[in-house]
Amino acid sequence: MEKINGKSIFNGIAVGKILFYSKDAGQVKRVKITDTRAEMERYNRAKEKAVDELNAIYAKAVKEVGELNAQVFEVHAMMLEDDTFHDSIQNIIENQHVNAEYAVATTGDNLSAMFAEMEDEYFRARAIDVKDIAERVISILLGKSTSNNIGNEPVIIAAAAGMQIPLAEDLAPSETVQMDKEKLLAFVTRLGSANSHTAILARTMNLPALVGVDIREEWNGKTAVVDGFAGELIIEPDEATLKEMRERQEEVSRNRELLENLKGKEDITRSGKKIKLYANIGGIGDVANVIKNDGAGIGLFRSEFLYLESGDYPSENEQFQAYKTVAENMAGKKVIIRTLDIGADKQVDYFRLEKEENPAMGYRAIRICLDRRDIFKTQLRAIYRASAYGTIGIMFPMIISVNEVRQIKAIVEEVKKELDGQQIQYGSVELGIMIETPAAVMISDLLAEEVDFFSIGTNDLTQYTLAIDRQNSRLDNIYDARHEAILRMIRMVVDNGHKHNIWVGICGELGADLNLTKEFIRMGIDELSVSPGAILPIRKIIRETE
Ligand code: PEP
Ligand code: MG
Repeated sequence: MEKINGKSIFNGIAVGKILFYSKDAGQVKRVKITDTRAEMERYNRAKEKAVDELNAIYAKAVKEVGELNAQVFEVHAMMLEDDTFHDSIQNIIENQHVNAEYAVATTGDNLSAMFAEMEDEYFRARAIDVKDIAERVISILLGKSTSNNIGNEPVIIAAAAGMQIPLAEDLAPSETVQMDKEKLLAFVTRLGSANSHTAILARTMNLPALVGVDIREEWNGKTAVVDGFAGELIIEPDEATLKEMRERQEEVSRNRELLENLKGKEDITRSGKKIKLYANIGGIGDVANVIKNDGAGIGLFRSEFLYLESGDYPSENEQFQAYKTVAENMAGKKVIIRTLDIGADKQVDYFRLEKEENPAMGYRAIRICLDRRDIFKTQLRAIYRASAYGTIGIMFPMIISVNEVRQIKAIVEEVKKELDGQQIQYGSVELGIMIETPAAVMISDLLAEEVDFFSIGTNDLTQYTLAIDRQNSRLDNIYDARHEAILRMIRMVVDNGHKHNIWVGICGELGADLNLTKEFIRMGIDELSVSPGAILPIRKIIRETE
């Protein structure tokens, strides 16, 4: 038995087998082989397996994100079967007498370089697909797990990388969303900050998770315990530890059962102040968890995950389907969709964003939307169309000025006019902004005149106020969202919002801090939007507050 410390990002206990998750398929060795026929057979078997995997992912994606979004996996399977890909690999294996891994990697590199040079945007975007499928086949050849397939057994994912790709020691948000949530017991990663989007996803999925753990490949397949309360990973626990952990696991679920009694109850204080207790989601797949936890609505739908999951810009119809499904499943309860917020740690290859020195302060979120209006309008049209099927609100991220809000409102008017012209129905939609920059806090009195609500994004607000990169795990110990500066800002925003008769909520992770719930209520906060698992514990406190 061995205990390793990490930083916990979700309290909970998981017991299961470790699956070592590695993205080092790029470091392929060139090995001379003599039996080229056997090597070709090895390749063919790996290719068949890759096609099977892609078909399975396609089927799963159709269910989770709809047919149009899922098509990328069908395209991947077709590309694998394509003669160009196959012939190049065969040629390299047979003429150079080298291993299949090397032949696949070289073919992947060559074809993707060729696509990347093409004039046509569609073909340029295929460069990444070729790389992706090559990596899948290489992973299969190397006997490693592939990002989209974590097998049939529930597992604890341990993410680390080969020495040469230090960046792969974290999980990217897009990888996390692609994993089969049913099979995930917990995450353990070498890098990664407690405030990253992967950490937020783990919380949304109720997964115990540790970051900053010195992962070792030899743990693959071993039984382990992730103790999110103590921030410990226990490898090969002895019988007594295993027994204790199972008991604690049961205790955690008993506590949850107690909380279950709060289902169906109102979010109201003893003195009668009603709080909107909403949930944060990343996609359609999270809605079931919101309903299970009795969320009164969705206060933050991070719509960028639709873009992260997709191999190309999601079309208006694809987005419409996703928003409509969420609105319908929430059956009339409020669904607030946050418009595209990419950049910083949420990189989407097909946007081809330039590498920036300081991406968190760079070309991201609303800045991209106001610059690339085609993308913005497509999303707004999709949201407005979906608003005919439920109660939808929209909020805009990273606002720093009144001028931005006015530009947004003008674009929204254009979109509505276009829909009117086409006789397309839409409902009445509340428009709000996220308050996640110190600038927005300081001018919240002016901004309040422009919108229907404020939602305070404490994750970014903390990073910009304290000048601490939320991605930098070395600074986790001083990243303090409870800093007096942040609490004062929240008070100021609530006061300014109320002076102009608009409601004010918190959708950053701080909103779920149970030690602050009473304080937020005292400040006059109207809404808290939190990960689904935090809803019932907060309801309990709201109902105990005077
Ligand atoms: C925030 O910044 O607090 C927020 C809710 O948005 P995100 O975490 O997605 O940046
Ligand atoms: Mg933010």
